[in-house]
Amino acid sequence: MELRNEIKAVADTEGIDFFGVADLSPAHDAILAQGGPDIARFPRAVSIGKTLIHAIVDGLSVPASARVAELYRYYCYDLVNDRLDKVALRISSVIQAHGFAALPVPAAPRAVDAERLCGVFSSKMAAHLAGLGWIGRSCLLVTPEIGPRARWASVLTDAPIPPTGEPMAPRCGDCQVCVKACPAGAFTGRPFRPGEEREVRFHASDCGEHLRAMKAEIGLRVCGMCVKVCPHGKRASRNNASQADAPASRR
Ligand code: SF4
Ligand code: SF4
Repeated sequence: MELRNEIKAVADTEGIDFFGVADLSPAHDAILAQGGPDIARFPRAVSIGKTLIHAIVDGLSVPASARVAELYRYYCYDLVNDRLDKVALRISSVIQAHGFAALPVPAAPRAVDAERLCGVFSSKMAAHLAGLGWIGRSCLLVTPEIGPRARWASVLTDAPIPPTGEPMAPRCGDCQVCVKACPAGAFTGRPFRPGEEREVRFHASDCGEHLRAMKAEIGLRVCGMCVKVCPHGKRASRNNASQADAPASRR
């Protein structure tokens, strides 16, 4: 079986909701600056994403509820990340068996820069380059289907797999909902522009400070308001609910 179809079949079998292949060359300089030459040597990334559970995301609030935060941490973070990591490992093995290099990037990479809260590679950027969504004012990957309500992992590779799309232009328009909703005031409101550093849009240390406060208050580093409030994700949640309400014959 052709390599691309083989890894797509792995993703489908494992219940992965988003699959894409990114040409990383447009972001090479940023990848080099963030992860160094060992990361920037890979020309492609396989991007996989898993949709979060709307009923949990919709329950997030300020002030935070410890009960919802616990559900969010477990089902929308730990379990989803674990699933993504296992699938990324399987995909890496398939690529390697075809004679190419493959390096899985965990869904929750250990932050190499505690101040900037980022790992060696941005899986959101890979999904963006694969054509799966745009980078919103929240610096999250926003998909047309479910907004930012997904988590992402990647497999870096030198396998010549054809890219699945072009980077999607931002569709935030005049929306500032996430900027206003962030309890830490961490977003500047500036829209994403390729090549511009994330720091001009997002003050990660302010978010980190808020998460530390949550840990002290409810015992968990959980917020997620930027994930919850995006109208693109809320619309998906509403559509989901109206489908569930529809008579069986209309589903
Ligand atoms: S997780 Fe909370 S504090 Fe951090 S950026 Fe999102 S809304 Fe702001
Ligand atoms: S809430 Fe609005 S500004 Fe923020 S990412 Fe979503 S669409 Fe863009």
